[in-house]
Amino acid sequence: MTISEHPVIGEERLLIDGELRRARSGRTFEVVNPATEEVIGVVADGGPDDLDDAITAARRAFDDSSWATDVELRVRGLRQLQSAFLAHADEIRAMTVAETGSPLSLTYSAQLDAPVDSLGWVADLAEGYQWETDLGDAAPLGIPSHRWVRREPTGVVGAITPWNVPHQINLAKLGPALAAGNTVVLKPAPDTPWCATVLGRLIAEETDIPPGVVNIVASSEHTVGALLSSDPRVDQISFTGSTATGKRVMISAADTLKKVFLELGGKSAFVILDDADLRGACATAAFTVCTHAGQGCAITTRLLVPRHQFDEAVESTAKVLSKLPAGDPTDPGTICGPLISARQRDRVEGYIALAGEEHGTIVTGGGRPDGMERGYFVEPTLIVGVDNSARVAQEEIFGPVLVVIPHDGDDHAVALANDSAYGLSGSVWSADRERAIRVTDRIRTGTVGINGGLWFSPDMPFGGYKQSGVGRESGVAGFEEYLETKSIAEPA
Ligand code: NAD
Repeated sequence: MTISEHPVIGEERLLIDGELRRARSGRTFEVVNPATEEVIGVVADGGPDDLDDAITAARRAFDDSSWATDVELRVRGLRQLQSAFLAHADEIRAMTVAETGSPLSLTYSAQLDAPVDSLGWVADLAEGYQWETDLGDAAPLGIPSHRWVRREPTGVVGAITPWNVPHQINLAKLGPALAAGNTVVLKPAPDTPWCATVLGRLIAEETDIPPGVVNIVASSEHTVGALLSSDPRVDQISFTGSTATGKRVMISAADTLKKVFLELGGKSAFVILDDADLRGACATAAFTVCTHAGQGCAITTRLLVPRHQFDEAVESTAKVLSKLPAGDPTDPGTICGPLISARQRDRVEGYIALAGEEHGTIVTGGGRPDGMERGYFVEPTLIVGVDNSARVAQEEIFGPVLVVIPHDGDDHAVALANDSAYGLSGSVWSADRERAIRVTDRIRTGTVGINGGLWFSPDMPFGGYKQSGVGRESGVAGFEEYLETKSIAEPA
């Protein structure tokens, strides 16, 4: 059976205190396929009272059960969750393509299989983790003492997630938070609730994860996320989304001084040095910005090329972009699917229009693809003629839009790459490895790929400098974001 023949099976119910249930209000909201604009189902519309139930359950599960101290139960629960995903992989894959508009090909990596794989990695980490470190005897302030340091879960974690790679982001929060011994209230984006509610069903029906440990509250209202971040019973907020919302989350969490972990936006640079394989680099830059229609925070969206190679780079990049048209995400060959919503398409088209106002030129793309009457598609678009201070070069567009800017050598390329409020990711290309590393080391971002090397992996920390975030997701650093540190001493 092909993916388009597979029935799309969502999950209407929230998960609260171990129960799969409707919203208290009885309300639901629609789930829309962004490639067809069809309503494919509904989901319970959680409100403040459902959120209150969820936080109460998470608090009780943390304070009054053995979850926080039972590593074996946690590891078992995570492995069961991974097995449940694998057992329903075809069904979840079809649902994910229908709900997110993600190209099918991407579900075999970051959109589904990689995050499911990461559950195994984090279970292994928890199993072998050194929860206590003995620091031996010392006589601080003249008092002989035996000391040790213990790592403990933070408590109740509020996880707030966006729509672009929902399984990746839901599981990159849930996996380590649970492995560390926390309980969780997950509030997914209104555009992709099923990726979260299906996860809730797997947890309730196919794992030993106790009631209250994971609670999933889908909602059409962003205010539910705001309530979660201000609630005094929540110890930590783990947020992924736009920088503007991240700032609001930090403010609303400030009153109760929660730990706040933020993964935010980006405007990452793809730096080509003058000795690089120009065509290979340009092809990679074009391919990257088309992936999932550019809806990835770490996608490189500013292409910095040597001034004397500018025309050749533009021609080469435009040629590849024009061969990667936006198309049906269920087609295994599609790289660039639709944008998530009409609102998001309006936003991307607004930026393409802005490029003209900023005296930029559209070399290829700029419109909607021919023959696609339905769906929120935008053509892969290349903008030239603006400098790095233009809004289209500074602001996150979150669409298949690449801006090309000339540079005058390595120092200038580094200055341009760093001339951004963001600091999430980047790419450096050079035939000389040492030179590429020197440039990489000067770029102020949380991740950088050299000559196409990929940093995305469960054991690699991911996150942003500057306004791209606070803290790290994934890797040991990501796991430890969900831990407190307790220092203990007794008389020696
Ligand atoms: P968004 O900021 O609008 O929403 C993200 C989540 O926050 C949603 O669940 C939303 O309901 C919730 N929310 C909205 N207002 C809130 C508030 N005041 N308080 C608490 N929660 C609130 O982002 P989006 O449009 O869903 O996603 C796109 C953005 O996410 C892009 O800017 C992208 O760069 C960013 N993103 C970052 C990463 C990363 O890891 N750095 C990953 C994916 C997406």
